[in-house]
Amino acid sequence: LSPLSEVDPEIAAVLGQELERQRNTLEMIASENFVPRAVLEAQGSVLTNKYAEGYPGRRYYGGCEFVDIAERLAIERAKSLFGAAYANVQPHSGASANAAVMSAIAQPGDRILGLSLDHGGHLTHGMRLNFSGKLYEAHAYGVNEQTGLLEMETVRAKAIEVQPKVLIAGWSAYSRTLDFAAFRAIADEVGAILWVDMAHISGLVAAGLHPSPVPYADVVSSTVHKTLGGPRAGFILTNNVDIAKKINSNVFPGQQGGPLMHVIAAKATAFMLAASDEFKDRQQRTVRGAQILAERLVQKDMTDLGVDVLTGGTDVHLVLVDLRKSELNGQEAEDLLHSVDITVNRNAVPADPRPPMVTSGLRIGTPALATRGFADAEFTEVADIIAETLKPGADLAALKVRARALADAFPLYEGLESPGSWS
Ligand code: PLP
Repeated sequence: LSPLSEVDPEIAAVLGQELERQRNTLEMIASENFVPRAVLEAQGSVLTNKYAEGYPGRRYYGGCEFVDIAERLAIERAKSLFGAAYANVQPHSGASANAAVMSAIAQPGDRILGLSLDHGGHLTHGMRLNFSGKLYEAHAYGVNEQTGLLEMETVRAKAIEVQPKVLIAGWSAYSRTLDFAAFRAIADEVGAILWVDMAHISGLVAAGLHPSPVPYADVVSSTVHKTLGGPRAGFILTNNVDIAKKINSNVFPGQQGGPLMHVIAAKATAFMLAASDEFKDRQQRTVRGAQILAERLVQKDMTDLGVDVLTGGTDVHLVLVDLRKSELNGQEAEDLLHSVDITVNRNAVPADPRPPMVTSGLRIGTPALATRGFADAEFTEVADIIAETLKPGADLAALKVRARALADAFPLYEGLESPGSWS
């Protein structure tokens, strides 16, 4: 029962260093967030010890009376948060949730149609090397390469051509609201099952800031750790009892063995917190922050340098910076921002002229900084720091000082002492 720092000082050092990195830098990876202390505690708990194959009340192991309570709470809270009739909270990750969805609603060899990976789709929506591209006949629709906008007429034309078994809506990099009613109409027209992967936007959906896919989709999957701000994990929702049964058997035993009960407990806590007014306020600051950043980057001093914003703005928690006309490529821009302690990721843009490891874009997200407490004033300063950093001859040392001042003004995990104990 010795502490980590004594048992394994090397790993303890990693935890300490990572805590300092998170505290001292500005985290703007669109898919990341900071979980509350309550979620860290639930996840770092004795529930990690428990095997619980099966579902609450129907387990293949004894001693599940308490983990059953945790899983039932997670299920009920997920259902109530998103207004769904059925929820499965066992997927270990977004990708495993998606694998279970696909195995529940399609057969190997069936045609599937999702947003192209290089236009902002996800690996699990049909990428060649992923299970989705290997097991199914994957087709893709794309955005308008000039505007970056998804046009429903294009989706419809592609769906009529492909006649997919599954139509997929959802993305990893897109900055506008999706029209789920239009996706539903297209799915009905071609006789497809509509699956929405709301991983990125589930926090916005929970807060009522993005239309909910739940009334329209046959099945909805999500991660818990992006805008929703919970533990790293996935979950699945549906209103259809037959699909719900297939989802359950395709998660366990179809895809997984024992569920991660410590993570399921942390999901329950995250779903509870996501129903609060504080959470809604945070999501509002998230979207507003992204809009402030987009407004700053479309100003003339940036567009003159070839730095632009795909779709001209954003409705969500991220901004897609378009560097196709800039001398700066995605890799260089990511490295420059890293040098002033702002963490973002480079991202391919539609019809990207540069190779995938370099790219001509950046994906910049605001959820983690909104969780730290940032509001309009701080997001305006971050936007200015980003814009100045991307200009030739920027004073990077001075910009780094400004970024650090913002981080210091919003302390993270106060009372958490390295590596894992609270004072
Ligand atoms: N679905 C979408 C739309 C995503 O953006 C992601 C992650 O980036 C996933 C699924 C996969 O989630 P995970 O990384 O937990 O497997």
